[in-house]
Amino acid sequence: MSFQKQIRRRQAALRRTLRTWRKLAEALMSTEPVVLAHIIPIRRCNLSCTYCNEYDKHSAPVPLAELKRRLDCLASFGTKIVTISGGEPLLHPELDEVIGHIRRHGMIAGMITNGYLLTADRIERLNRAGLEYLQISIDNVMPDEVSKKSLKVLDQKLVLLARHAEFHVNINSVLGSGVKNPEDALTVAHRAVALGFTSTVGILHDGNGQLQPLSGREREIFGEIMRLGKRSFARINGFQHDIAMGREHRWRCRAGSRYLYICEDGLVHYCSQQRGYPGIPIEQYTNEMRRREYFTRKGCAPRCTISCVQQVATIDNWRAPQVLVSTPGSGPGPGAGSDPGGQELVQLSGANHSS
Ligand code: SF4
Ligand code: SF4
Repeated sequence: MSFQKQIRRRQAALRRTLRTWRKLAEALMSTEPVVLAHIIPIRRCNLSCTYCNEYDKHSAPVPLAELKRRLDCLASFGTKIVTISGGEPLLHPELDEVIGHIRRHGMIAGMITNGYLLTADRIERLNRAGLEYLQISIDNVMPDEVSKKSLKVLDQKLVLLARHAEFHVNINSVLGSGVKNPEDALTVAHRAVALGFTSTVGILHDGNGQLQPLSGREREIFGEIMRLGKRSFARINGFQHDIAMGREHRWRCRAGSRYLYICEDGLVHYCSQQRGYPGIPIEQYTNEMRRREYFTRKGCAPRCTISCVQQVATIDNWRAPQVLVSTPGSGPGPGAGSDPGGQELVQLSGANHSS
């Protein structure tokens, strides 16, 4: 890597860290702004992971002008961090413009990708567009019938990222039901750290985003990965210890208020696992609605495994008890998904979690 590139990377890291801390401080000072929003620019994906129902094979990209309008709404909510997710966001032909629009509004720009479409040139374009955080979720070491998000296939992409990326890169591995070889998560995490990235581990949830306890060996691996690196906000994850033990945990889900999931149709949902609640177009989503959701207890919260929403909630868990009740956990909302990869971007690091 050239000397100039190293300097640019350090400067970008410093700016990013300062910006992220400032945004988090602002979020702490007032309960009004949205802390994190996921936005879907395209539902189509180039892969077909068998556990995932957050993608299709035919959807057209959301037009740029429409995405910009949605981002304008998010900016008007005071949103601090926007994470672009999917489907596979790199399939959107005007992705760089989307990233640029997020940055022009002063919001932090993150993305979750399966990494397959990354090249040296594409990474440099993402640098220029102003991407600040990227997450790739790697499910196994060798591709199998369940997932092709494999270290063997993606390692060359990780090397390209290590050489070219000026944005923060987090590699997420997964544990839990449906993962054939839990040791793979450890291999992925070690490789990530060796390349200079941060590493997180996600615990697979069921179709309602709810927890399943880990086995003994899985818990040991989980502990090892948690100890591997301490450099990102992704580490705001104490709740994952409860999840690993299969214990219910106490927290206040602020989905619909401090966290928003904006689907490809421009509707606001609690999260990817509770789509359909409330399912209101973003242009009609009022401050009053956001305030009401802030004080609404979600029935699915005690067994929820969705780490990005729980990280956002740590800002407010100590204040504002929830006095209203919503029970989306009684079943998935229309179109509810089960993409574990997609659920582990740890956005508070500016991004630490769909593809
Ligand atoms: S608790 Fe919140 S984040 Fe978790 S599944 Fe329910 S609505 Fe989604
Ligand atoms: S998990 Fe990600 S990469 Fe796999 S099919 Fe779903 S969106 Fe595509």
